[in-house]
Amino acid sequence: MKNSENLGFFTRQVHAGDFNDPLGSATVPIYQTSTFKFKNADHGAACFAGEQKGYIYTRLGNPTIAALENAVANLEKGFAGIATSSGMAAITTVYLTFLGKGKHIVSHNALYGPARSVMETIFARFGVEYTYVDTTNIENVKSAIRPETAMIYTETPANPTMGISDLKKLADLAHEIGVPLVVDNTFCSPYLQRPIEFGADVVVHSMTKFLNGHADIVAGMIITANEKYHKLINPVMINMGCNIDPHQAYMVHRGLKTLGLRIERAQASAMKIAEYLQNHPKVAKVNYPGLKSHSQYELAQKQMYGPGTMMAFELKGGFNAGKKLIDNVQLILLAVSLGGIESLIQHPASMTHSKVSHEKKIEAGITDELVRLSVGIENVEDLIADLDQAFEKV
Ligand SMILES: *Cc1c(COP(=O)(O)O)cnc(C)c1O
Repeated sequence: MKNSENLGFFTRQVHAGDFNDPLGSATVPIYQTSTFKFKNADHGAACFAGEQKGYIYTRLGNPTIAALENAVANLEKGFAGIATSSGMAAITTVYLTFLGKGKHIVSHNALYGPARSVMETIFARFGVEYTYVDTTNIENVKSAIRPETAMIYTETPANPTMGISDLKKLADLAHEIGVPLVVDNTFCSPYLQRPIEFGADVVVHSMTKFLNGHADIVAGMIITANEKYHKLINPVMINMGCNIDPHQAYMVHRGLKTLGLRIERAQASAMKIAEYLQNHPKVAKVNYPGLKSHSQYELAQKQMYGPGTMMAFELKGGFNAGKKLIDNVQLILLAVSLGGIESLIQHPASMTHSKVSHEKKIEAGITDELVRLSVGIENVEDLIADLDQAFEKV
């Protein structure tokens, strides 16, 4: 019953992935081992041949890691999960599986910075071709498709602009041309959005963010909608050595159990902060999917279970005003990353997207004055008071 799809989200986040430990441990033990003993030569041979279920070596599989993979796949309504050492390891493993010399990817122009720069600097050296367009408009994606296109990739809401791409339309288009739709669901987590429900084939996560939620681990996950893609991707992860460590997996699994609680709390505060910012005389614009002023408010309502805890806003005084603000917050941490219990503020143009050229940033809507806020679980009055005192210095 514990892995049943019919149980509620909070029940599944606590119990999915459990297994019957022989000693009755209430949590999944940490199998801190690199290798596993075989009963005899025949058993070893059968495990290697895949004729018998059994663990061989931790890069190939480990019970603690498998428990986390099962839990996240269950929450994303996917077929199976593949845990990786980082979110970037998840993304590059998926790129490596479907792309190669002469193959082409159509991807979002407002993407997690390194997910784009790794393509333009490293994958390009191996002959992979790419087109970056604003995937919030399906027509842009349609016109970028070529006969060599092997993958459509998006992130929604986009990082850091908060633009929303229509998952159903993208999945339909991908399937029309017979390629997978890959979605980075880091910004939402399965609590707020489950791309597989709209037809996505592969979901990637930086578990560093919401899934772990405590800003103390770097990790990633790939969830496939079906067995076919699982069987294509898993050997790439194994052979490239992108595996997670059992201890790291245990930590993420522990954080995962409070995912919905953390997001509910932070999201309620995010809504109040977005309203506060929208009414602030020094703020020019707030991008938050929970505000009716968001240009894709309706779409967000349709494909997300909530507007989330992430927002971006532009200050009237441009770059210097933004810099003054982030230099003067006291409670909110000036740090990149997101999705933790602590509120974080950062300036994408000079931080997360500093390696993206100025023209490409402007084209993707990442202006110099854009500030990104990840709302944590602190008391919202304290967060607003902190912003208030920082605004006074702007
Ligand atoms: C952080 C992040 C990544 C990369 O994850 P790491 O765990 O840092 O490798 C990928 N996508 C998004 C949206 C992110 O926020």
